[in-house]
Amino acid sequence: MLHTVSAFDRMGEENAFAVLARATALAQAGRDIINLGIGQPDFRTPGHIVEAAIKALRDGHHGYTPATGLLACREAVARRTLAMTGVEVSPESIMIMPGGKPTMYATIIMFGEPGAEILYPDPGFPIYRSMIEFTGATPVPVPVREENGFAFSAEETLSLITPRTRLLILNSPANPTGGVTPRDEIAKLVKGLERFPDVAILSDEIYDVMTYDGEKATSLLAFPEIRDRLVVLNGWSKTWAMTGWRMGWSIWPDGLYDKVRKLAVNCWSCVNAPSQYAGIAAIDGPQDAVETMLDAFDRRRRIVVEGLNRLPGVSCATPKGAFYAFPNVGKTGRPAKKLASTLLEKAGVALIGGPDFGVLGEGYLRLSYANSEENILRAIDRIGKFLET
Ligand code: PLP
Repeated sequence: MLHTVSAFDRMGEENAFAVLARATALAQAGRDIINLGIGQPDFRTPGHIVEAAIKALRDGHHGYTPATGLLACREAVARRTLAMTGVEVSPESIMIMPGGKPTMYATIIMFGEPGAEILYPDPGFPIYRSMIEFTGATPVPVPVREENGFAFSAEETLSLITPRTRLLILNSPANPTGGVTPRDEIAKLVKGLERFPDVAILSDEIYDVMTYDGEKATSLLAFPEIRDRLVVLNGWSKTWAMTGWRMGWSIWPDGLYDKVRKLAVNCWSCVNAPSQYAGIAAIDGPQDAVETMLDAFDRRRRIVVEGLNRLPGVSCATPKGAFYAFPNVGKTGRPAKKLASTLLEKAGVALIGGPDFGVLGEGYLRLSYANSEENILRAIDRIGKFLET
Protein backbone atom coordinates (compact mmCIF):
# COMPACT_ATOMS: atom_id res chain seq x y z
CA MET A 1 0.00 0.00 0.00
CA LEU A 2 1.45 3.34 -1.03
CA HIS A 3 1.04 6.25 1.39
CA THR A 4 0.59 9.47 -0.52
CA VAL A 5 -0.11 12.69 1.34
CA SER A 6 -3.75 13.61 1.86
CA ALA A 7 -3.35 16.99 0.14
CA PHE A 8 -3.68 15.17 -3.17
CA ASP A 9 -7.10 13.83 -2.17
CA ARG A 10 -8.26 17.38 -1.53
CA MET A 11 -7.12 18.64 -4.91
CA GLY A 12 -9.93 19.31 -7.39
CA GLU A 13 -9.93 19.55 -11.18
CA GLU A 14 -11.01 21.67 -14.08
CA ASN A 15 -14.05 19.94 -15.52
CA ALA A 16 -13.55 21.71 -18.86
CA PHE A 17 -10.76 19.18 -19.57
CA ALA A 18 -13.06 16.21 -18.77
CA VAL A 19 -15.78 17.67 -21.02
CA LEU A 20 -13.22 18.16 -23.79
CA ALA A 21 -12.14 14.51 -23.45
CA ARG A 22 -15.74 13.27 -23.58
CA ALA A 23 -16.58 15.55 -26.52
CA THR A 24 -13.50 14.31 -28.40
CA ALA A 25 -14.40 10.67 -27.68
CA LEU A 26 -17.95 11.20 -28.96
CA ALA A 27 -16.65 12.98 -32.08
CA GLN A 28 -14.19 10.14 -32.72
CA ALA A 29 -17.10 7.72 -32.46
CA GLY A 30 -18.69 9.59 -35.35
CA ARG A 31 -21.03 12.00 -33.52
CA ASP A 32 -21.33 15.59 -34.71
CA ILE A 33 -20.26 17.53 -31.61
CA ILE A 34 -20.16 21.32 -31.32
CA ASN A 35 -17.64 22.32 -28.69
CA LEU A 36 -18.49 25.39 -26.66
CA GLY A 37 -16.80 23.90 -23.62
CA ILE A 38 -13.12 24.72 -23.69
CA GLY A 39 -11.68 28.12 -22.86
CA GLN A 40 -9.25 28.59 -25.67
CA PRO A 41 -9.34 30.81 -28.74
CA ASP A 42 -10.22 28.93 -31.94
CA PHE A 43 -7.68 31.05 -33.84
CA ARG A 44 -4.17 29.96 -34.73
CA THR A 45 -1.17 31.59 -33.11
CA PRO A 46 -0.25 34.47 -35.50
CA GLY A 47 2.40 33.44 -38.04
CA HIS A 48 5.10 35.92 -37.03
CA ILE A 49 5.00 34.52 -33.47
CA VAL A 50 5.43 30.96 -34.71
CA GLU A 51 8.31 32.09 -36.96
CA ALA A 52 10.07 33.74 -34.01
CA ALA A 53 10.09 30.44 -32.12
CA ILE A 54 11.40 28.54 -35.16
CA LYS A 55 14.11 31.13 -35.71
CA ALA A 56 15.12 30.96 -32.05
CA LEU A 57 15.66 27.21 -32.33
CA ARG A 58 17.55 27.61 -35.61
CA ASP A 59 19.73 30.24 -33.93
CA GLY A 60 20.63 27.73 -31.23
CA HIS A 61 18.45 28.97 -28.38
CA HIS A 62 17.80 25.53 -27.02
CA GLY A 63 19.28 25.76 -23.55
CA TYR A 64 18.23 26.87 -20.08
CA THR A 65 17.36 30.50 -19.58
CA PRO A 66 17.44 32.32 -16.23
CA ALA A 67 14.74 30.89 -13.91
CA THR A 68 13.00 34.28 -13.95
CA GLY A 69 12.96 34.32 -17.77
CA LEU A 70 15.07 35.97 -20.46
CA LEU A 71 15.74 39.62 -19.67
CA ALA A 72 14.54 40.56 -23.19
CA CYS A 73 11.26 38.77 -22.54
CA ARG A 74 10.78 40.44 -19.16
CA GLU A 75 11.57 43.81 -20.76
CA ALA A 76 8.91 43.12 -23.38
CA VAL A 77 6.39 42.37 -20.61
CA ALA A 78 7.36 45.63 -18.87
CA ARG A 79 6.72 47.54 -22.13
CA ARG A 80 3.37 45.84 -22.60
CA THR A 81 2.38 46.52 -18.98
CA LEU A 82 3.22 50.22 -19.39
CA ALA A 83 1.21 50.38 -22.63
CA MET A 84 -1.82 48.65 -21.10
CA THR A 85 -1.88 50.18 -17.63
CA GLY A 86 0.31 53.29 -17.72
CA VAL A 87 2.31 51.79 -14.87
CA GLU A 88 6.07 51.23 -14.96
CA VAL A 89 7.21 47.89 -13.61
CA SER A 90 10.79 46.75 -13.37
CA PRO A 91 11.85 43.66 -15.34
CA GLU A 92 13.34 42.62 -11.98
CA SER A 93 9.81 42.13 -10.63
CA ILE A 94 8.60 40.07 -13.60
CA MET A 95 8.62 36.27 -13.75
CA ILE A 96 8.13 34.40 -17.02
CA MET A 97 6.05 31.37 -16.05
CA PRO A 98 4.98 28.17 -17.85
CA GLY A 99 1.41 29.44 -18.34
CA GLY A 100 -1.04 31.36 -16.20
CA LYS A 101 -1.79 28.54 -13.76
CA PRO A 102 1.70 28.28 -12.22
CA THR A 103 1.37 31.84 -10.88
CA MET A 104 -1.87 30.77 -9.19
CA TYR A 105 -0.13 27.74 -7.76
CA ALA A 106 2.93 29.68 -6.60
CA THR A 107 0.91 32.41 -4.89
CA ILE A 108 -1.57 30.08 -3.23
CA ILE A 109 1.11 27.77 -1.82
CA MET A 110 3.00 30.83 -0.53
CA PHE A 111 0.05 31.88 1.62
CA GLY A 112 -2.03 28.75 2.16
CA GLU A 113 -1.67 26.43 5.13
CA PRO A 114 -4.07 24.99 7.72
CA GLY A 115 -5.63 27.77 9.76
CA ALA A 116 -5.25 30.38 7.00
CA GLU A 117 -8.21 31.65 4.98
CA ILE A 118 -8.06 32.54 1.30
CA LEU A 119 -10.83 34.45 -0.46
CA TYR A 120 -11.64 33.56 -4.05
CA PRO A 121 -14.44 34.39 -6.53
CA ASP A 122 -17.50 32.10 -6.78
CA PRO A 123 -18.40 31.39 -9.51
CA GLY A 124 -14.76 31.53 -10.53
CA PHE A 125 -11.93 29.65 -12.19
CA PRO A 126 -12.04 26.23 -10.43
CA ILE A 127 -8.30 25.95 -9.86
CA TYR A 128 -8.34 28.73 -7.24
CA ARG A 129 -10.44 26.67 -4.86
CA SER A 130 -8.70 23.42 -5.74
CA MET A 131 -5.26 24.80 -4.93
CA ILE A 132 -6.48 26.46 -1.73
CA GLU A 133 -7.81 23.08 -0.58
CA PHE A 134 -4.51 21.47 -1.55
CA THR A 135 -2.62 23.70 0.88
CA GLY A 136 -5.03 22.89 3.73
CA ALA A 137 -6.14 26.53 3.97
CA THR A 138 -9.84 27.32 4.27
CA PRO A 139 -11.39 28.48 0.98
CA VAL A 140 -13.76 31.42 1.51
CA PRO A 141 -15.95 32.10 -1.53
CA VAL A 142 -16.56 35.71 -2.50
CA PRO A 143 -19.95 35.78 -4.24
CA VAL A 144 -20.01 37.17 -7.78
CA ARG A 145 -23.64 37.94 -8.54
CA GLU A 146 -25.63 38.32 -11.73
CA GLU A 147 -27.63 41.23 -10.29
CA ASN A 148 -24.29 43.01 -9.84
CA GLY A 149 -23.29 42.46 -13.48
CA PHE A 150 -21.03 39.60 -12.33
CA ALA A 151 -18.68 42.18 -10.82
CA PHE A 152 -17.39 41.60 -7.33
CA SER A 153 -18.69 43.90 -4.62
CA ALA A 154 -16.08 45.77 -2.58
CA GLU A 155 -18.32 45.85 0.47
CA GLU A 156 -19.16 42.16 0.42
CA THR A 157 -15.53 41.20 -0.23
CA LEU A 158 -14.25 43.33 2.65
CA SER A 159 -16.92 41.90 4.98
CA LEU A 160 -15.45 38.42 4.50
CA ILE A 161 -11.95 39.34 5.69
CA THR A 162 -11.02 37.99 9.14
CA PRO A 163 -7.76 38.03 11.13
CA ARG A 164 -6.98 34.68 9.48
CA THR A 165 -7.28 35.99 5.90
CA ARG A 166 -3.94 35.79 4.10
CA LEU A 167 -4.83 36.21 0.45
CA LEU A 168 -7.61 37.66 -1.69
CA ILE A 169 -7.95 36.42 -5.28
CA LEU A 170 -9.59 38.72 -7.83
CA ASN A 171 -10.35 38.13 -11.51
CA SER A 172 -11.65 40.73 -13.95
CA PRO A 173 -12.54 40.30 -16.81
CA ALA A 174 -13.74 37.04 -15.39
CA ASN A 175 -14.02 33.40 -16.25
CA PRO A 176 -16.74 31.96 -16.28
CA THR A 177 -19.11 34.94 -16.19
CA GLY A 178 -17.51 37.47 -18.55
CA GLY A 179 -18.01 40.03 -15.77
CA VAL A 180 -15.85 43.16 -15.65
CA THR A 181 -15.60 44.92 -12.29
CA PRO A 182 -15.87 48.72 -12.64
CA ARG A 183 -12.89 50.85 -11.68
CA ASP A 184 -14.84 52.64 -8.92
CA GLU A 185 -15.64 49.35 -7.23
CA ILE A 186 -11.99 48.29 -7.38
CA ALA A 187 -10.93 51.68 -5.96
CA LYS A 188 -13.42 51.19 -3.12
CA LEU A 189 -12.00 47.75 -2.42
CA VAL A 190 -8.42 49.03 -2.42
CA LYS A 191 -9.41 51.82 -0.01
CA GLY A 192 -11.02 49.26 2.30
CA LEU A 193 -7.95 47.04 2.13
CA GLU A 194 -5.97 49.78 3.89
CA ARG A 195 -7.58 48.41 7.07
CA PHE A 196 -6.09 44.98 6.36
CA PRO A 197 -2.42 45.52 5.56
CA ASP A 198 -1.57 41.85 6.09
CA VAL A 199 -3.80 40.58 3.30
CA ALA A 200 -2.03 39.88 0.01
CA ILE A 201 -3.84 40.19 -3.33
CA LEU A 202 -3.61 37.99 -6.41
CA SER A 203 -5.15 39.74 -9.40
CA ASP A 204 -5.77 37.41 -12.34
CA GLU A 205 -5.75 39.72 -15.37
CA ILE A 206 -5.34 37.12 -18.10
CA TYR A 207 -8.35 38.45 -20.09
CA ASP A 208 -7.27 42.10 -19.86
CA VAL A 209 -7.58 42.91 -23.58
CA MET A 210 -10.91 41.12 -23.96
CA THR A 211 -13.49 43.77 -23.16
CA TYR A 212 -16.42 45.00 -25.26
CA ASP A 213 -18.88 47.89 -25.60
CA GLY A 214 -16.17 50.40 -24.69
CA GLU A 215 -15.59 48.70 -21.32
CA LYS A 216 -12.00 48.73 -20.02
CA ALA A 217 -10.33 46.36 -17.62
CA THR A 218 -8.76 47.98 -14.56
CA SER A 219 -5.43 46.58 -13.48
CA LEU A 220 -4.78 46.45 -9.75
CA LEU A 221 -1.36 47.85 -10.67
CA ALA A 222 -3.09 51.22 -10.98
CA PHE A 223 -3.12 51.41 -7.17
CA PRO A 224 0.43 52.03 -5.88
CA GLU A 225 -0.72 51.77 -2.27
CA ILE A 226 -1.06 47.97 -2.57
CA ARG A 227 1.94 47.26 -4.82
CA ASP A 228 3.94 45.82 -1.92
CA ARG A 229 1.38 43.01 -1.50
CA LEU A 230 0.08 42.56 -5.03
CA VAL A 231 0.78 39.68 -7.41
CA VAL A 232 -0.52 40.15 -10.96
CA LEU A 233 -1.15 37.06 -13.10
CA ASN A 234 -1.17 37.42 -16.87
CA GLY A 235 0.05 35.59 -19.92
CA TRP A 236 0.05 34.88 -23.62
CA SER A 237 -2.51 32.03 -23.68
CA LYS A 238 -5.69 33.92 -24.47
CA THR A 239 -4.54 37.21 -26.03
CA TRP A 240 -2.32 35.68 -28.68
CA ALA A 241 -4.04 32.27 -28.95
CA MET A 242 -1.11 30.47 -27.34
CA THR A 243 -2.71 28.14 -24.77
CA GLY A 244 -0.55 25.16 -25.69
CA TRP A 245 2.73 27.07 -25.63
CA ARG A 246 2.50 27.36 -21.83
CA MET A 247 3.62 30.94 -21.58
CA GLY A 248 2.58 33.24 -18.76
CA TRP A 249 4.02 36.07 -16.74
CA SER A 250 3.51 37.54 -13.32
CA ILE A 251 4.49 40.72 -11.54
CA TRP A 252 5.62 40.36 -7.92
CA PRO A 253 6.34 42.61 -4.97
CA ASP A 254 9.94 42.72 -3.71
CA GLY A 255 9.36 40.46 -0.72
CA LEU A 256 7.93 37.61 -2.78
CA TYR A 257 10.00 37.70 -5.97
CA ASP A 258 12.87 35.68 -4.62
CA LYS A 259 10.48 33.04 -3.30
CA VAL A 260 8.88 32.47 -6.70
CA ARG A 261 12.30 32.48 -8.36
CA LYS A 262 13.38 29.71 -5.98
CA LEU A 263 10.18 27.78 -6.68
CA ALA A 264 11.00 27.96 -10.41
CA VAL A 265 14.54 26.69 -9.77
CA ASN A 266 13.13 23.77 -7.81
CA CYS A 267 10.21 22.87 -10.07
CA TRP A 268 10.61 23.81 -13.72
CA SER A 269 14.02 25.59 -14.01
CA CYS A 270 12.77 27.94 -16.70
CA VAL A 271 10.31 28.28 -19.54
CA ASN A 272 11.65 26.88 -22.81
CA ALA A 273 13.70 29.44 -24.71
CA PRO A 274 11.94 29.39 -28.14
CA SER A 275 8.59 30.10 -26.50
CA GLN A 276 10.08 33.12 -24.78
CA TYR A 277 11.33 34.45 -28.14
CA ALA A 278 7.82 33.87 -29.47
CA GLY A 279 6.49 35.77 -26.48
CA ILE A 280 8.67 38.77 -27.31
CA ALA A 281 7.45 38.71 -30.92
CA ALA A 282 3.85 38.53 -29.71
CA ILE A 283 4.22 41.65 -27.59
CA ASP A 284 6.40 43.71 -29.93
CA GLY A 285 4.94 42.61 -33.28
CA PRO A 286 1.79 43.69 -35.13
CA GLN A 287 -1.45 43.32 -33.14
CA ASP A 288 -3.81 43.07 -36.11
CA ALA A 289 -4.45 39.36 -35.52
CA VAL A 290 -5.46 40.16 -31.94
CA GLU A 291 -7.84 42.85 -33.22
CA THR A 292 -9.36 40.45 -35.74
CA MET A 293 -9.91 37.87 -33.02
CA LEU A 294 -11.49 40.40 -30.66
CA ASP A 295 -13.82 41.64 -33.43
CA ALA A 296 -14.90 38.06 -34.07
CA PHE A 297 -15.49 37.45 -30.34
CA ASP A 298 -17.55 40.63 -30.14
CA ARG A 299 -19.77 39.57 -33.06
CA ARG A 300 -20.22 36.08 -31.68
CA ARG A 301 -20.97 37.45 -28.23
CA ARG A 302 -24.00 39.27 -29.61
CA ILE A 303 -25.15 36.19 -31.52
CA VAL A 304 -24.84 33.98 -28.43
CA VAL A 305 -26.67 36.39 -26.15
CA GLU A 306 -29.45 37.05 -28.64
CA GLY A 307 -29.88 33.35 -29.39
CA LEU A 308 -29.85 32.24 -25.77
CA ASN A 309 -32.40 34.86 -24.74
CA ARG A 310 -34.86 33.39 -27.25
CA LEU A 311 -34.75 29.96 -25.60
CA PRO A 312 -37.48 28.89 -23.16
CA GLY A 313 -36.46 29.31 -19.50
CA VAL A 314 -33.11 30.89 -20.41
CA SER A 315 -31.95 34.46 -19.80
CA CYS A 316 -28.47 35.64 -20.60
CA ALA A 317 -26.87 38.88 -19.42
CA THR A 318 -24.54 40.48 -21.96
CA PRO A 319 -20.97 39.64 -20.93
CA LYS A 320 -18.60 42.61 -20.96
CA GLY A 321 -15.37 40.66 -21.16
CA ALA A 322 -13.48 37.40 -21.85
CA PHE A 323 -15.14 34.99 -24.34
CA TYR A 324 -17.80 33.31 -22.25
CA ALA A 325 -21.55 33.66 -21.87
CA PHE A 326 -23.05 32.60 -18.55
CA PRO A 327 -26.78 32.16 -19.13
CA ASN A 328 -29.20 31.69 -16.26
CA VAL A 329 -31.06 28.43 -16.90
CA GLY A 330 -32.81 28.29 -13.52
CA LYS A 331 -36.24 28.61 -15.08
CA THR A 332 -35.76 25.50 -17.20
CA GLY A 333 -36.24 23.61 -13.93
CA ARG A 334 -33.23 21.41 -14.71
CA PRO A 335 -30.11 21.19 -12.50
CA ALA A 336 -27.28 22.86 -14.43
CA LYS A 337 -24.69 20.07 -14.33
CA LYS A 338 -27.19 17.45 -15.44
CA LEU A 339 -28.40 19.79 -18.17
CA ALA A 340 -24.82 20.29 -19.40
CA SER A 341 -24.06 16.56 -19.55
CA THR A 342 -27.40 15.74 -21.19
CA LEU A 343 -26.86 18.46 -23.80
CA LEU A 344 -23.54 16.85 -24.68
CA GLU A 345 -24.85 13.30 -24.82
CA LYS A 346 -28.24 13.98 -26.44
CA ALA A 347 -27.82 17.21 -28.40
CA GLY A 348 -24.11 17.05 -29.20
CA VAL A 349 -23.29 20.42 -27.62
CA ALA A 350 -20.34 20.56 -25.23
CA LEU A 351 -20.58 23.25 -22.57
CA ILE A 352 -19.91 23.45 -18.85
CA GLY A 353 -22.37 23.39 -15.94
CA GLY A 354 -22.16 26.45 -13.69
CA PRO A 355 -21.59 24.37 -10.52
CA ASP A 356 -18.16 23.41 -11.90
CA PHE A 357 -17.20 27.00 -11.07
CA GLY A 358 -18.55 27.05 -7.52
CA VAL A 359 -21.76 26.63 -5.55
CA LEU A 360 -23.11 29.95 -6.80
CA GLY A 361 -22.83 28.60 -10.33
CA GLU A 362 -25.95 26.48 -9.79
CA GLY A 363 -28.63 27.52 -12.27
CA TYR A 364 -26.10 28.62 -14.92
CA LEU A 365 -24.21 27.20 -17.89
CA ARG A 366 -20.94 28.43 -19.34
CA LEU A 367 -20.65 28.64 -23.11
CA SER A 368 -17.33 29.56 -24.63
CA TYR A 369 -17.91 31.44 -27.89
CA ALA A 370 -14.49 30.51 -29.21
CA ASN A 371 -16.19 28.74 -32.11
CA SER A 372 -17.51 29.83 -35.52
CA GLU A 373 -20.72 31.87 -35.87
CA GLU A 374 -22.21 29.00 -37.84
CA ASN A 375 -21.45 26.49 -35.10
CA ILE A 376 -22.74 28.82 -32.40
CA LEU A 377 -26.05 29.19 -34.26
CA ARG A 378 -26.30 25.43 -34.76
CA ALA A 379 -25.55 24.85 -31.07
CA ILE A 380 -28.24 27.29 -29.94
CA ASP A 381 -30.71 25.68 -32.29
CA ARG A 382 -29.92 22.26 -30.82
CA ILE A 383 -30.19 23.52 -27.24
CA GLY A 384 -33.55 25.13 -28.08
CA LYS A 385 -34.90 21.93 -29.63
CA PHE A 386 -33.72 19.95 -26.62
CA LEU A 387 -35.34 22.33 -24.13
CA GLU A 388 -38.64 22.13 -25.98
CA THR A 389 -38.81 18.34 -25.62
N1 PLP B 1 -6.88 32.38 -15.21
C1 PLP B 1 -8.10 32.31 -15.74
C2 PLP B 1 -9.19 33.17 -15.22
C3 PLP B 1 -8.36 31.40 -16.79
O1 PLP B 1 -9.59 31.32 -17.32
C4 PLP B 1 -7.31 30.57 -17.25
C5 PLP B 1 -7.54 29.57 -18.31
O2 PLP B 1 -8.61 29.19 -18.65
C6 PLP B 1 -6.08 30.68 -16.64
C7 PLP B 1 -5.89 31.60 -15.64
C8 PLP B 1 -4.94 29.76 -17.00
O3 PLP B 1 -4.28 30.09 -18.12
P1 PLP B 1 -3.12 29.15 -18.70
O4 PLP B 1 -3.76 28.24 -19.69
O5 PLP B 1 -2.16 30.12 -19.32
O6 PLP B 1 -2.51 28.41 -17.56
